[in-house]
Amino acid sequence: MEKRKFRGVGPELSLLGFGCMRLPKIDPDKPDIQQIQAQEMIDYAYEHGVNYYDTAWPYHQGLSETFIGKALKKYPRDSFHLVSKMPGWEAKKPEDASYIFERQLEKCQVEYFDFYLAHAMNAERLVQYKEAGVFDVLLEKKKEGKIRHLGFSFHDSPEVLKKIVDLGFWEFGQIQLNYLDWTMQRAREQYDVLQAAGLPVVVMEPVRGGALHSLCPQAVELLKKAGPDASPASWAIRFAASLPGVMTVLSGMTTLEQVKDNVKTMENFKPLTDDEKKLLEQVVDIYQQSKTVPCTGCRYCMDCPAGVDIPLMFSIYNQYQLNEDKQAFVKAYAEAGDSKQAHHCVACRACVPKCPQGIEIPDRMADVKKLADRLMPKE
Ligand code: SF4
Ligand code: SF4
Repeated sequence: MEKRKFRGVGPELSLLGFGCMRLPKIDPDKPDIQQIQAQEMIDYAYEHGVNYYDTAWPYHQGLSETFIGKALKKYPRDSFHLVSKMPGWEAKKPEDASYIFERQLEKCQVEYFDFYLAHAMNAERLVQYKEAGVFDVLLEKKKEGKIRHLGFSFHDSPEVLKKIVDLGFWEFGQIQLNYLDWTMQRAREQYDVLQAAGLPVVVMEPVRGGALHSLCPQAVELLKKAGPDASPASWAIRFAASLPGVMTVLSGMTTLEQVKDNVKTMENFKPLTDDEKKLLEQVVDIYQQSKTVPCTGCRYCMDCPAGVDIPLMFSIYNQYQLNEDKQAFVKAYAEAGDSKQAHHCVACRACVPKCPQGIEIPDRMADVKKLADRLMPKE
């Protein structure tokens, strides 16, 4: 496994980081983790040199931290880096942040976090975290040795990122970066802000919630021609890992096959050549012609008061936009069940401010409904 030294002198981190937000579930509608399968994935990753495990308070509705603490317990504490994040939006005062932090240590069964982040920072949260005294608590915990390295994760514009960076106490930053968002969501400018500040970059959503793995047949063919044995996901992972200053690339893995594929990519890591970068630009052109919704499946927008399963609806819709398989759409849409379907959306907009991708959810949900009205058999 390719390893990189944190800030050139610090601990060695595996270039592949294990994101614990999409672990296999017992029931797709519930957060409970399929423990045996997930443990097998962690063990495989660990045995193949992955030493960076990234969890957070809200992942799997709180169950991810508990799981990863238990899963890594059998390994020496100094052989892996455990990472979690402060959900500052839940803190009204410093005591709340302090309580959450100590609870996280308990849940993960550790005395300290190797890396710790202020979670999902944006313009609004920058103000809120400051007012609630969240940053003071994080700096205090760092002084106490309970946080080894302090950073933040981020979803907003490069201008806001600059303001956050200018706070001056960060050691790294985590941004959404992949070959699609490089220009579409200004990831390149965000990367440049972190580079200019000398902050190592942790990459999240390198495969854009799986979208860069489930490409349309035309794009897949292009990639297959250039690398018959390389999965579409491996191209996306290599794009992120090829950038100088990238410390680790997080992948939120759900199956053992995904772990094996990502490990294979990072064990024999080869940075993209100029020709390969050009090839990915062609894939972006093809992707942009599709009508897919840029949903990563993060579920931050949930729960919808009208019962709509927003990420599921977008996933079924996107699949159709990529392969135009009517039968598959009809099957998946029916299996979702009436209560989760798009027609229940009342455009209340409760979900819109929660979406880090800035998707106009009610408008796009209307597109899903329109498609379902056209394709679903009439009763
Ligand atoms: S806008 Fe639609 S999808 Fe979003 S929360 Fe309201 S009802 Fe649910
Ligand atoms: S609509 Fe937005 S918040 Fe909801 S799952 Fe998709 S990307 Fe995440």
